Amino acid sequence: MVRPRDAADVATALGAMGARGAIARGLGRSYGDVAQNGGGLVLDMTAQRGIERFDEDEGILAALAGTSIDDILRAIVPRGWFLPVTPGTRFVTLGGAIANDVHGKNHHGDGSLGDHLVGFELLLPDGQVRQVALASDPETYEATLGGLGLTGIIVRATVRLLPIGTSWTRVDTERAVDLEDLMGRMASDDHRYRYSVAWVDCLARGRSLGRGVLTRGDHATREELPSALARDPLVYSPRMLASVPPGVPNVVTRAAARSFNEVWFRKAPREERGRITSLTSFFYPLDAIADWNRLYGRRGFVQHQFVVPFGQERVVETAVELLSSGGSASFLAVLKRFGPGRGMLSFPAPGWTLALDLPAGQPGLAQLLDRIDRLVAEAGGRVYLAKDARLNPALLPDMYPDLDRWMDARERLDPGHAWRSDLERRLGLGARQRKDALT
Ligand SMILES: Cc1cc2nc3c(=O)[nH]c(=O)nc-3n(C[C@H](O)[C@H](O)[C@H](O)COP(=O)(O)OP(=O)(O)OC[C@H]3O[C@@H](n4cnc5c(N)ncnc54)[C@H](O)[C@@H]3O)c2cc1C
Repeated sequence: MVRPRDAADVATALGAMGARGAIARGLGRSYGDVAQNGGGLVLDMTAQRGIERFDEDEGILAALAGTSIDDILRAIVPRGWFLPVTPGTRFVTLGGAIANDVHGKNHHGDGSLGDHLVGFELLLPDGQVRQVALASDPETYEATLGGLGLTGIIVRATVRLLPIGTSWTRVDTERAVDLEDLMGRMASDDHRYRYSVAWVDCLARGRSLGRGVLTRGDHATREELPSALARDPLVYSPRMLASVPPGVPNVVTRAAARSFNEVWFRKAPREERGRITSLTSFFYPLDAIADWNRLYGRRGFVQHQFVVPFGQERVVETAVELLSSGGSASFLAVLKRFGPGRGMLSFPAPGWTLALDLPAGQPGLAQLLDRIDRLVAEAGGRVYLAKDARLNPALLPDMYPDLDRWMDARERLDPGHAWRSDLERRLGLGARQRKDALT
């Protein structure tokens, strides 16, 4: 792995690249092998960071691709702007966020990050830098958005920001007694909120199967703040509250997850309206604890996220049933609704998305996830490749119907296949003939 400081460093590194090719890497927050390239070159892009232009009147920001969302928010929130889309951690880079076309809690209304870009610069393997915008070069734009770093290196990008009156959110919380109740509430009322997310208790059984806590909100206006907060309405100073030391044993056992879920559900208000909550606790609860992943012990955990079209609610229900009866201890299960997608390999598509954190090494976990993957594919859904390390490649063409179109675009942008990754090899994304080989 090299950490190029500028374009000249990138060129030097690429000059020495071997047959296993190269891949860009951001802050490494993807859960699988999408930013890894065993035996090949990895370009850590985090040294190429910095905001290059911030138009405070128009809300337009241009930054180098290695700039983190954290850096961006520290600059823009005190000036009354927010990112139009943010994932559940601010420790990701702009380039990484585009390469996975990340979504937030507002996909049902606002789409993914790719719906808010003015454009970006893409470095091709021959050293050419291409200016890419949706209107002028839709193929490159849609192939790179969610293109997993395999169409080129994003050098810089320009984003249209969202105006905010305060650095606070106004949040409504409600408990749902089972999955049907939860999905019903989301389907009927999500459109009234910019942000919506539900925590699902995947260990509850019987009549409580899929019970959950629904949290929905919007940016608070100045008038909605209590007077103590209204004095400095755009204050923004996120802090780490704790950090998990190395070597902690796995605390996410089934018994612990069950107790946690019970307490979490009971602690949530049955119904609460208008709680004023900071941006960081609403959007980035996990960021408050550094190295939270260590709580899963040395074996770590598997993250799995899928989306199925509206009308296929039964698949979500079956997945929750399988998890609750199979004994997999997931205390972080998150349900959201998506609107239309944008990129050829972008994950979001209209429907329900469920994300699960599951301790690795539990007996039967691989078979359980394989089964869920098959159900998802049959229902016309897909899994999120940013979080994948284990998908059966045979399911990929069904899950991503634009795969061939993306491969053609990639072929044009990188005919020599300079950009390679472990995920690309594992899923056979490089071979034009993969479909024939699999059939
Ligand atoms: C706690 C947590 C919560 C999360 N919540 C969400 C969520 O709500 N929604 C969501 O969509 N995702 C979510 N994610 C996933 C995360 O947002 C994505 O994996 C994101 O892409 C990570 O960005 P990164 O900078 O760490 O990139 P990496 O993980 O290092 O790389 C990701 C991809 O970007 C490519 N890449 C990186 N930099 C460049 C570049 N300059 N040019 C070209 N390609 C590049 C890499 O090759 C790779 O394919 C979450 C992750 C965590 C840990």
